Amino acid sequence: MGSYSRSLQTVLGAPGVRGKRVTALSKDGFTDFIQSIVTKKQDVKDPFYVLDLGEVVSLMDKWTRSLPTVRPFYAVKCNPEPALLGALAALGSNFDCASRAEIESVLALGVSPDRIVYANPCKAESHLKYAASVGVNLTTFDSRDEVDKIRKWHPKCVLLIRVKAPDDSGARCPLGPKYGALPEEVTPLLQAAQAARLNVTGVSFHIGSGATHSRAYRGAIAAAKSVFEAASRLGMPRMRVLNIGGGFTAGSQFGEAASAVNSALQAYFPNEPGLTVIAEPGRFFAESAFTLATNIIGKRVRGELREYWINDGIYGSMNCILYDHATITCTPFACTSNRANPTCRGARTYRSTVFGPTCDALDTVLTGHLLPELEVSDWLVFPKMGAYTAAAGSNFNGFSTSAISTHLAYSNPC
Ligand SMILES: *Cc1c(COP(=O)(O)O)cnc(C)c1O
Repeated sequence: MGSYSRSLQTVLGAPGVRGKRVTALSKDGFTDFIQSIVTKKQDVKDPFYVLDLGEVVSLMDKWTRSLPTVRPFYAVKCNPEPALLGALAALGSNFDCASRAEIESVLALGVSPDRIVYANPCKAESHLKYAASVGVNLTTFDSRDEVDKIRKWHPKCVLLIRVKAPDDSGARCPLGPKYGALPEEVTPLLQAAQAARLNVTGVSFHIGSGATHSRAYRGAIAAAKSVFEAASRLGMPRMRVLNIGGGFTAGSQFGEAASAVNSALQAYFPNEPGLTVIAEPGRFFAESAFTLATNIIGKRVRGELREYWINDGIYGSMNCILYDHATITCTPFACTSNRANPTCRGARTYRSTVFGPTCDALDTVLTGHLLPELEVSDWLVFPKMGAYTAAAGSNFNGFSTSAISTHLAYSNPC
């Protein structure tokens, strides 16, 4: 059995996946799969996701090959779909949780608490007490008040000091304005932790989500090195953990980001015995694994312009356009109006607007998008919709994002 098949077997037996229907996809089987689901949905044409577990296996393989020394802690906030969490757990990933509910959902899969980093630098007291009660003993901090809180409610917790990455200007969603100690705050914070008798075991940072400058990792790893040095100047026990956060995308940029990380680790941490390097990838594992299918529920023709209404939008999965500054795209699946050629290859296209279902005009998903002539009941399929989509959708106007179902499949790259 090849390593892909072995990993796939592991994933099919994973919590969150086991017992669910998982469909094998041939190389061009995606359209057929959508077709088979759509055919079964003649009456209720609700939107749905397809999670490709084969893609998750490939991504883990890619991670392990490119960053062999960096242990991934998947950032649950990016997409908490249980089948994704279970698959990642089975493939050996650990988890970054930011709240009580996220910790609960990971523990519910049977993952042990020492595979969780509670990577929220500012935690509610009740959530922190919960973490203490279940044995989640690794967290981040970037303020004195957090030191006091941790001393009171979870003094056994081991800490990573979160520092502000020196350059997050290339990120789609910079995190620097909210989190991370400034260089001049590092020593006083370490002293505060020392005075509170808390164990600070390392450094964490995040160069911003959807990072485009791979060099940002180098600057941040260099900054982390100076924190390690500051800690030893204070006579603290030797730091052992470097957490390089998220920011990774799975496309062609990943190779570049991985070499930036590897060469910076070589340069700044060349012979650090016992150093554990971890990361908190979210987007990397979630984005390309999910495809969203939405149904066309309305249409209006205004001259050459075509306007369509679909049953998911800005208040649902497509909130990523607002919050994640995402650019999304879609392909037609015209199973009602063009059965012979549902993907409409070669068909004439029109400038089209795609609206979401709520009564707010802001709920506009695409404008000026070229689409063939489609009819009510046809479908629009959005690829790469796994990162920061359903996770942040609402129930506005009675359209419930959390009710969108997920169908499981696996593609075979071989
Ligand atoms: C959001 C977040 C992540 C995940 O970031 P990606 O860019 O999706 O990889 C990781 N760590 C922390 C602390 C976060 O807040």
